[in-house]
Amino acid sequence: MTLEPPPLQEALNLEQMAPGVVHRLRLALSHNALGREFAVPVLVYRAREPGPVVGVTSAIHGNELNGIPTIHRLFDSVGAVHSLTRGAVVAVPILNTPGYLRFQREFHDGRDLNRVMPGKPDGASAELYAHRILDRLVRHFDYLIDLHTASFGRVNTLYVRADMSNPTEAAMARAVRPQIIVNNDATDGTLRGAASRAGVPSITVEIGDPQRIQPGLIRATRLGVQEVIEHLGLLPDIDDPDPRETVECSRSFWMYTDAGGILQVFPALNAMVKQGEVVATLTDPWGRVVRSYPSPQAGIVVGKSTNPAAHAGARIVHLGVPR
Ligand SMILES: [Zn+2]
Repeated sequence: MTLEPPPLQEALNLEQMAPGVVHRLRLALSHNALGREFAVPVLVYRAREPGPVVGVTSAIHGNELNGIPTIHRLFDSVGAVHSLTRGAVVAVPILNTPGYLRFQREFHDGRDLNRVMPGKPDGASAELYAHRILDRLVRHFDYLIDLHTASFGRVNTLYVRADMSNPTEAAMARAVRPQIIVNNDATDGTLRGAASRAGVPSITVEIGDPQRIQPGLIRATRLGVQEVIEHLGLLPDIDDPDPRETVECSRSFWMYTDAGGILQVFPALNAMVKQGEVVATLTDPWGRVVRSYPSPQAGIVVGKSTNPAAHAGARIVHLGVPR
């Protein structure tokens, strides 16, 4: 079966979209060298009552895919959007379509879209595209939930990054009920930071591992996203996420190797490590242990390397420091 591609638009005209049905469209953000549109898939559902617009975006890193089915399930025939009592949900399952096509994190020019925000209207390719994401999409949002995963060669827990000094963002983060919340003020060119500074409270949800579909984490994320939308007053209480203890961290940091070799990382995701506990060893090609890495302080394992081939300066573990 071949389905007709949804209509192509250059602007999002939410007010002109009929309430009570799922709208599918392609939104042009830029143009490629053939003069064709770089268009992103967009799903929209409006309730009959006016209210806030919640944006849900995914795959700004083109190989971070768990957010795609998370969004699809929010909008499918039994999805939560059909219960919306006010406002609208606008979702973009794949923001970085060139990266998605190449199974890569970066945009087609090799730049990281989530480090060049807010971009520039007269900038280079990735900067222009970043600017258009804000101007053609995020400008219509009152809140934003940006879905990510770990990067290549790493695994993540289900965790949320948010500026916990912002009460709205802190409440959104807690509503997800993730395994871990990491406090982070997003000053590094991210979509979350740019949206937040433009007055759109935003959180980032990190869902497991890159270039994979992980049903358990996707279900937990979908329920968490629904809880955020419910907390923002757009949904009645439908379906509570699995009860889970969230560990809130005041900050987090990566440990790195200071030599090259074969890396083995010991603690499991979400495990608590003690100060001084050896979290990894580095072995040389002849099987001799050349380094042991003790944790500099107590923490919880937010993410870790799964790539044993470690150059000097390779990431080891991402440790959260609980409040
Ligand atoms: Zn990402």
